[in-house]
Amino acid sequence: MKNIAVVGSGVMGRGIAYVSALNDFHVHLNDINTEALDKAKSYIEKELKKSADRGFIQSEDVNRTLNNITFSQNLKESVKDADLVIEAVLEQMELKIKIFKELDELCPEHTILATNTSTMSPTEIGAQTSRPEKVIAMHFFNPVHKMKLIELIKGLDTSQETVEKIQEVGAQMKKETVEVNEFPGFVTSRMNCLIGNEAMNLLMEGVASAEDIDKAMKLGLNHPMGPLELADLVGLDSRLRNMEYLHQTLGEKYRPCPLLSKYVKAGKLGRKTGSGFYQY
Ligand code: NAD
Repeated sequence: MKNIAVVGSGVMGRGIAYVSALNDFHVHLNDINTEALDKAKSYIEKELKKSADRGFIQSEDVNRTLNNITFSQNLKESVKDADLVIEAVLEQMELKIKIFKELDELCPEHTILATNTSTMSPTEIGAQTSRPEKVIAMHFFNPVHKMKLIELIKGLDTSQETVEKIQEVGAQMKKETVEVNEFPGFVTSRMNCLIGNEAMNLLMEGVASAEDIDKAMKLGLNHPMGPLELADLVGLDSRLRNMEYLHQTLGEKYRPCPLLSKYVKAGKLGRKTGSGFYQY
């Protein structure tokens, strides 16, 4: 495994490209949107510089990492030599399936196709390709360069060989992995979405302020971040899509909090728009 293509250069795609390139993979970062690619490039440059200034990486790692990344809008070019493609576009099943069908056509036969979905079914995605045994979910966490885990989710037809190859990729990226049998929301999103949704219900019911809900979870229950500041970091639109999918597949317990839908309707999507449960 040498060449990784990342499709989608938003919050997650840019982080996956950064970590892959820092750990010596050759990376093609692809997006349909030039502005997103430009933003991804400046984000990666800024984060690399910050890490070098703080002594987490050597100064020579900055240029080495940047030289390992090619930014492109051309999907065919981006994936033609890929050993692994990691898809990180919006959490919409129709869009993911459309992209996986294209990838199946464009990629060499040996290429493993991974999705960074937070909740959705790699079995359903894999079934639309001619290589379901080489389709897997690689669920990274935000911010990718700081979070230690990749949750690996096996679809019904994902082969053990694919799982083992992806575990090796994870080790080269200096991440820990856990192996999960597919079920909506896996382990982490199922737990995390429910905690976040309950925090939003508490806020909507006027039980406590956003600051005090987050403080209670951090200082009382030792969570490193409060659930509302975490939702702002993830993006409230992404979180709403995750909740809607869990509600549809797992039932009533996962009904999205109306306050979350209201914030999304207002365009208050968290950090990325400068306003969500907090102002940035
Ligand atoms: P985002 O909105 O920040 O980025 C999505 C990117 O995909 C955009 O830049 C968009 O231009 C691009 N895109 C859309 N259609 C495309 C296409 N056809 N080809 C190439 N690029 C295309 O989204 P995100 O927050 O990075 O989420 C991406 C995926 O990662 C989702 O499935 C999400 O559920 C999952 N995820 C998100 C987080 C998080 O904290 N945000 C954490 C774990 C997993």
